[in-house]
Amino acid sequence: MPDNSEIEKFRTARNIVNQDIPFHFLHEEEPDLEGNIQSINTIFLTSKECSFKCLMCDLWKNTIECPTPKGAILKQIDYALNRLPDSNLIKLYNSGNFFDQKSIPLSDYPGIIERVKSYKKVIVENHAKLCGQVCVDFNNQLNGKLEIAMGLETIHPDVLPKLNKQLNLEDFRVAAHFLKSNGIDMRAFILLNPPYLTDEKENIEWTIKTVQFAFDCGVRCCSIIPTRSGNGIMEILQKQGHYIPPTLNALEEVFEKALEFKKGLVFVDSWDIDFLSSCSHCFEERKARLNQMNLSQKRYQPITCSYHQ
Ligand code: SF4
Ligand SMILES: [Zn+2]
Repeated sequence: MPDNSEIEKFRTARNIVNQDIPFHFLHEEEPDLEGNIQSINTIFLTSKECSFKCLMCDLWKNTIECPTPKGAILKQIDYALNRLPDSNLIKLYNSGNFFDQKSIPLSDYPGIIERVKSYKKVIVENHAKLCGQVCVDFNNQLNGKLEIAMGLETIHPDVLPKLNKQLNLEDFRVAAHFLKSNGIDMRAFILLNPPYLTDEKENIEWTIKTVQFAFDCGVRCCSIIPTRSGNGIMEILQKQGHYIPPTLNALEEVFEKALEFKKGLVFVDSWDIDFLSSCSHCFEERKARLNQMNLSQKRYQPITCSYHQ
């Protein structure tokens, strides 16, 4: 089971990033729990690398190695917002943990709060173990409401410990209870085909179980992510037979099943899923169907394709 040093050993080079410019930003739409479509400005902030080293993570590629300098995050938010339209919600994703003060300096909080005051919701990423009073204080100072996106990944008892995430189900439950009782919304990132789960049926089953667990913890939104390789160690695990890429069929199946719970929002990450394509004739249509289901939260008729079964 690879540890931090082995995970780092197989890394490829980082991307060249600029600490005054977010490495990406975009405008997107998502439904809320009432079915209204909300517009979202999503900013992918360039910040210090996450202090955790999860086995499947490739987010370190767009990070810097030293603590984020004071004021850099504010410059990045200004840069993106000057180029984005008005929106209802904002995501400030920093390839790590928003409440890690080496990634987002405490002294930048007032400037961030000022810049997001027109948004009714501010969504950030944070590890369950880093959710504490600082999140509550930040939420209390926002004009809108805070939502924290936490990686739950999988509840499979043998797989979760192998992801090097330093998380167990009790940690997640405790964090979710704390956030919920302080009026902070939550979303969970859930993996389809984490490393060390290589049977398609089992992968579908455990993704669904994980969605169920997240909803039971009070999470209002589950985002299902097909696990991809590309961080170095994942390619090794694939060669060793410890990781198989998910199929588009499996992603469609978990999405349909998770929507049936009707316990909250379910999204599938349809960004960069070309690696799931096994048929060029129907892939785009099937991807469009996933995007429509993300927006409508309803099951659409499956796409039939005469080129494959
Ligand atoms: S906590 Fe999130 S950002 Fe950090 S290494 Fe794990 S998956 Fe990556
Ligand atoms: Zn096809």
